[in-house]
Amino acid sequence: MSTITVLGAGMHGLTTAMLLARDGHRVTVLERDPATPPPAGRAWDHWERSGVGQFRQPHFMLPRWREELEDALPEVLDDLVAAGGMRLNPILAAPQERRGPARPGDERFTTVTARRPVLEAVLAGVAARTPGVSIRRGVAADGFLAGTPTSPGVPHVAGIRTSDGERIAADLVVDCRGRRARMQDWLCAIGARPPVEEREDAGFVYYARHFRSADGGMPPAMGPLLQHYAPFSTITLPADHGTWSVGIITSSADHPMRALRDPAVWQAALARCPLIAHWTVGPGIEPITGVDVMAGLEDRHRRLVIGGEPVVTGLVTVGDSWACTNPSLGRGASIGAMHARLLQQVLREVDLGDADKVVRRFDDATAAVVEPVFRATLAFDRHRIAELAGERTGRPYESDDPAWALAKAVAAAAATDPDGLRLYGRLALLLDPPQSVFADQSVVGRLLSRPAPRYPFPGPTRADVLDAIAA
Ligand SMILES: Cc1cc2nc3c(=O)[nH]c(=O)nc-3n(C[C@H](O)[C@H](O)[C@H](O)COP(=O)(O)OP(=O)(O)OC[C@H]3O[C@@H](n4cnc5c(N)ncnc54)[C@H](O)[C@@H]3O)c2cc1C
Repeated sequence: MSTITVLGAGMHGLTTAMLLARDGHRVTVLERDPATPPPAGRAWDHWERSGVGQFRQPHFMLPRWREELEDALPEVLDDLVAAGGMRLNPILAAPQERRGPARPGDERFTTVTARRPVLEAVLAGVAARTPGVSIRRGVAADGFLAGTPTSPGVPHVAGIRTSDGERIAADLVVDCRGRRARMQDWLCAIGARPPVEEREDAGFVYYARHFRSADGGMPPAMGPLLQHYAPFSTITLPADHGTWSVGIITSSADHPMRALRDPAVWQAALARCPLIAHWTVGPGIEPITGVDVMAGLEDRHRRLVIGGEPVVTGLVTVGDSWACTNPSLGRGASIGAMHARLLQQVLREVDLGDADKVVRRFDDATAAVVEPVFRATLAFDRHRIAELAGERTGRPYESDDPAWALAKAVAAAAATDPDGLRLYGRLALLLDPPQSVFADQSVVGRLLSRPAPRYPFPGPTRADVLDAIAA
């Protein structure tokens, strides 16, 4: 039986631990935050979680996440539903005139979702009762233990040193320390080359509030969960117990928009969005937070294999510690679940004793399966931030990147055509890879030959929002 140490008991640390323990590994999860997770029903009000900056930010689990969990950890979904998680089909929730009648296959678009503390409390509850998983909270990893190299010149991680000086030996360390994880110093201290790291400020800022309805109901969706307008994008994300979140996402370079941190200004701006305003005000609707602001989000990608050669063995990174982006497409949890399952698969095929092969095989699998999703998300974000800059400077953004034109065409088709809506759903909800979605040229050709408006839904110009702010 091998011993695996997972760093971080966030969404992906817990998922990874459960998957690996089920395959017979003995897994210890080290979590820096000391608080014991409360039952899911008390998590929103009673769980302090400074280690996860986005803990009270809007979250929505895509159908891809539901599919991954249904396959690999179905009891998480059962517990989530029992804890009040919302079962929702974003395609069938669209207005009838946009989605048409329900079709065979539409059930794939179903998901189960909740507010982030509720989601994580459910994962923590299932992990805590999974044989082979031990979770130690209030224990911070502080560096790697160097072991005997298995390949000449490549340092080997043989465990973890904690901030209390404890030494914990492991056959494999899985770094799930999230988007703020720094690794260079720890690698340098055991004589490893630095990993390949790409990092940039994504340039987005989130202004988000959570709401609750008096009767447990949910406002009707009049457009998709994520909508793009000239001055900002909006998200309207249903969650557990008749709660939901509404977010405004814009460029952090747009200084007048910083007034959106004031709830009255935020409300006034959304009053100019005819498909969104009813999520924020109406009979029985009550805000349960002020406007929570999150900025300084990095796009980051880290690779521990350079030019085909590992910089280290005995260590892999999963989830946000491997790569993270601006989260407006809501893909983090799905990518992390896919990634954790890839590691499970690699460890089924490669003996942990072959430390070099484990790192190489996981790197290859990551590059083939999850990196394309990361790259596509990053490319979308870069176009969108440039589009927001174009609105600010009065020079409308144009790009000759066919992928951006395609993204615009798909979004426009989704707004007007039931086939387009499903095509968009398969792509945006990560259910199928683009090559399979675009394989049926008869439908795709018809949908994508139409002219695509820059913004498919009625909404404010930037000047409208600046007026609302001034008023
Ligand atoms: C504003 C925002 C909104 C988002 N919305 C969505 C969404 O709608 N849908 C979606 O799928 N994803 C969303 N995401 C992404 C999602 O939150 C992440 O993908 C997910 O939280 C990553 O999980 P993780 O386990 O990799 O890291 P985290 O959840 O960040 O957990 C990392 C853990 O590591 C611990 N840790 C750190 N350092 C140490 C150490 N030295 N020793 C021990 N423990 C340590 C931390 O305390 C923390 O518990 C959003 C992200 C942001 C920023």
